[in-house]
Amino acid sequence: MTEPGPARAEIVVDLAAVRHNVRRLAELVAADGPVQMMTVVKADGYGHGMVPVARAARAAGAHWLGVATLDEALALREAGDTGPVLCWLAAPGEDYAAAVEAGIDVTAYSVAELDEIAAAGPARVQVKLDTGLSRGGATRADWEQVLGHAADLERAGRVQVTGLWSHLAASDVPQHPANDQQEKAFREALDLAEALGLRPEMRHLANSAAAILRPSARFDLVRCGIASYGLDPAPGETPAHLGLVPAMTVRAPLVMVKRIARGDGVSYGHTWIADHDTTVGLVPAGYAEGVPRAASNEASVWVAGKQRPIRGLVCMDQFVVDLGDDQAEVGDEVLLFGPGDRGEPTAQDWAEAVGTINYEIVTRVGGRLRRRYV
Ligand code: PLP
Repeated sequence: MTEPGPARAEIVVDLAAVRHNVRRLAELVAADGPVQMMTVVKADGYGHGMVPVARAARAAGAHWLGVATLDEALALREAGDTGPVLCWLAAPGEDYAAAVEAGIDVTAYSVAELDEIAAAGPARVQVKLDTGLSRGGATRADWEQVLGHAADLERAGRVQVTGLWSHLAASDVPQHPANDQQEKAFREALDLAEALGLRPEMRHLANSAAAILRPSARFDLVRCGIASYGLDPAPGETPAHLGLVPAMTVRAPLVMVKRIARGDGVSYGHTWIADHDTTVGLVPAGYAEGVPRAASNEASVWVAGKQRPIRGLVCMDQFVVDLGDDQAEVGDEVLLFGPGDRGEPTAQDWAEAVGTINYEIVTRVGGRLRRRYV
């Protein structure tokens, strides 16, 4: 017996799983002292839908929400969120006045940005320090100047410095020397800030992997993205007893089933030629829906209780799955990936099959797929 399939290809998001993951992470990080939880909901909640995920995270006790852009932060406010929100990737000419009005914490990397922010009103600002990622943040040579300026602006009542933070380069590899180096540099930056008169409420460094694997990096707050969605931030390192539950399932109905003969080529370019007579099924999701083209002839999906290989090139709207000699019908359920509890592939399996990370698999899922929340 096969399960009845969905009417169309869809993303099913298990918000109870998000709540569970946020609670588990919060319990873990608070084990040795008070640590606040920020759930990172940027990029449309890593493909899960920003607003529903944000609500689930708040319900599970996330004190903070983290996003990249101010637009994302404002969208949270438009959806009715009133709690602390931090955004960290400003665009040139950013509308800091909107951030001030909405009570959003913005991030500054430089003296120029601090001035721009202060000009918009009494903003809540967090200063980001580059401790070794060499991405955003004030470079070490500028720490004193940037922190000193932040302290001056705060004394003048022009900004409120609510946080100091940094981001790790290799938290998914706990033994990587960059972790110790960056944590040490961050502590030095905090000492310097204190000497300059800054006493921010929030000091933070850890993403999911560091929150789980590096207690010394937790400081006042952890910024958990991927683990909140139940995916492993450091495959092979994260303890199974943490019990994270993947929240996303992508499923579709078979929209066509047919026999093909040995020697028939499948999909564009005939990158797969049947080496035996077989049944193939057509799945209505393609690279426009975030099914990686690199999954062609590499990843598998779950049909009627078995993993079945994708054959030929994934197209824009559809791909072909090899069903062997099994009975299958139009309308049967295809699980592209899910939590894995029925034996279906996981986002992690897909990531490994196509040579990427689980983040990219879930974040890119979308296109014409509808999201359904359970
Ligand atoms: N903090 C910052 C600054 C980020 O850019 C991200 C996401 O990339 C996170 C935290 C969350 O990271 P993760 O999803 O690994 O928990």
